Amino acid sequence: MHVNIQNLIDNAYCYAMVRQLRLAEGTQCPFCDSKHIIKRGFDDKEPARQRHECKDCGKRFDDLTGTIFAAHHQPLKTWILCLYFMDLNRSDVQQMTTQFREGVEKKEDP
Ligand SMILES: [Zn+2]
Repeated sequence: MHVNIQNLIDNAYCYAMVRQLRLAEGTQCPFCDSKHIIKRGFDDKEPARQRHECKDCGKRFDDLTGTIFAAHHQPLKTWILCLYFMDLNRSDVQQMTTQFREGVEKKEDP
């Protein structure tokens, strides 16, 4: 029996996880750092991907804008799976969490 492990992961859960990490710092505009953010529906292709609009600079962004996940072509859940398996190795959990947080917070070069 072959199990595609990616199917075991819920895409919506992955986006919720990224949102949660970002929200820990408060949702901020990745362009002007404003906190006046409104929700703007969801991505056309990925219904779990929340879109936002900044009320100060008017720019739009989504859950992955400004994170390493936006710059790579792997589906988000592939990242989450990698992190999950790394998490199984308890001695690395602290480092993994740190790397993940840094990845989420990493700003793209202009
Ligand atoms: Zn802004």
